[in-house]
Amino acid sequence: MSQSTAMPRRTRIVATLGPATDPPEILRAILRAGVDVARVNFSHGTDEEHLGRIARLREAAAELGKNVAVLADLPGPKLRVRLKEPRDLKIGDEVIFSISHDPINSTDLTITEPEMLADVKPDDRILLDDGRLQLIAGRAENQRLFTKVKMGGKLLPNKGVNLPDTPLTIPALTDRDREAIAIAAKGNVDWLALSFARNPEAAGELRTEALKHGLNVPVLAKIERPEAVEAAEAIIAAFDGIMVARGDLGVEIPLERVPTAQKRLIALARVAGKPVITATDMLDSMRQNPRPTRAEAGDVANAIYDGTDAVMLSGETAVGLYPVDAVECMSRIALEAESHLLELGHLGVELRLTDLSIDDHITEMVVELADRVGADAIITPTISGRTARLLARHRPKATVIAPAPTESILRQMAVVWGLQPVLMDYCRRTGDDRITGAVQAAFDQKVIEAGNLLVVLAGHPVEGGAHLPTIRLTRVGAGGAACEP
Ligand code: ATP
Ligand code: MG
Ligand code: MG
Repeated sequence: MSQSTAMPRRTRIVATLGPATDPPEILRAILRAGVDVARVNFSHGTDEEHLGRIARLREAAAELGKNVAVLADLPGPKLRVRLKEPRDLKIGDEVIFSISHDPINSTDLTITEPEMLADVKPDDRILLDDGRLQLIAGRAENQRLFTKVKMGGKLLPNKGVNLPDTPLTIPALTDRDREAIAIAAKGNVDWLALSFARNPEAAGELRTEALKHGLNVPVLAKIERPEAVEAAEAIIAAFDGIMVARGDLGVEIPLERVPTAQKRLIALARVAGKPVITATDMLDSMRQNPRPTRAEAGDVANAIYDGTDAVMLSGETAVGLYPVDAVECMSRIALEAESHLLELGHLGVELRLTDLSIDDHITEMVVELADRVGADAIITPTISGRTARLLARHRPKATVIAPAPTESILRQMAVVWGLQPVLMDYCRRTGDDRITGAVQAAFDQKVIEAGNLLVVLAGHPVEGGAHLPTIRLTRVGAGGAACEP
């Protein structure tokens, strides 16, 4: 922790990879600009494209010495239109959907799971492209659903279809998800995200399916269905993190409820010590413009004041004209917002912990102690990253340094607010050696320097046998030795 240089950014930036980030110099530039998590959206593109993007991302990250996680975003039970060419839909037009995979008429619209349209009743709404286009259902006959355009516009290939008025009987994991998981396992991704998660049980199904392919990684629930908002606490308990997926959420529940749902979801995830990503349209106008609107800048900052771990770019980086500018801009907004977060000393939404466990008490007190003594860093050797996450959820002023034993745990932690990853094979170290070793590793990897004041929290065995959490105050001496404070 150098006293002279500025604080590194603590809010994490997720960027969606796509055609716009494919040129190698652009990929490197977005990483340099500050991407912490690369999202691969399995709803668009081919398996080869996904694997190629993951491989090139890993290569570029290694070259730049950056800890970057790859998040595979699974399609989930999301319906999408199958279109070859963009199609103009005008108010009052009749649009006919095929309820089977083989349309009777070549101009009939088909969707990814056409059988779902059998459940649509007259007057139900059919929303396209995050609700930008609206159709109203009429009669269904002969495996065809007749609809009328209520809100028109240009319909592009592969845009989403929402049926907010129709109860769906689609399973949590579709065949397309299973195929995507197999590819994600080949690409050895760091996180799996499930679109349209509806209940906590989906987490188990997802983990089981991933393990079949030898992939053992944390799973994230995209919250974008009304059932998921209702069951948020149980879903957060079952999954390892969540995404506030505002695109579909704003179609599935009334738009005006999205900001409140965002605040509530972020607060719940923080209490649980699990990372939360705020997503969709954050700097949307930057797809076409080198600068965002004032409202978008405010949206990014406010998500950070709500307590989000990460903010996400979707089309801005995947297909936008200014992917690098979008990341740079998001990074600047985040840095400015979080400097005030620390200055104020607390978040707009306070962390209300109830039913405190010993780990809750200890991590809260360590943050308090670090604050009182003006520590530069809190160091916590961590095996799964859990203790580090419990510390980070308090958004402490001191940097949280998390020495962890494997590169894959370090990458998983790249989604979490403010964690400074440090590689340290401390599993074989016990006792005091573990504490001094953690300080030494952080020193050797240049994230702390001589003179820094540290609070060390070792939640794992120190005296050899039992789990005896130890808190130690120490000052970094010459060469990285842990000295008297
Ligand atoms: P989701 O609901 O999972 O966010 P989405 O369709 O909104 O799906 P995003 O990843 O948010 O997709 O990207 C926004 C838009 O950018 C998409 O609708 C699509 O038009 C375009 N896009 C994204 N990724 C790709 C890609 N790999 N290839 C082509 N177009 C893409
Ligand atoms: Mg979505
Ligand atoms: Mg989207």
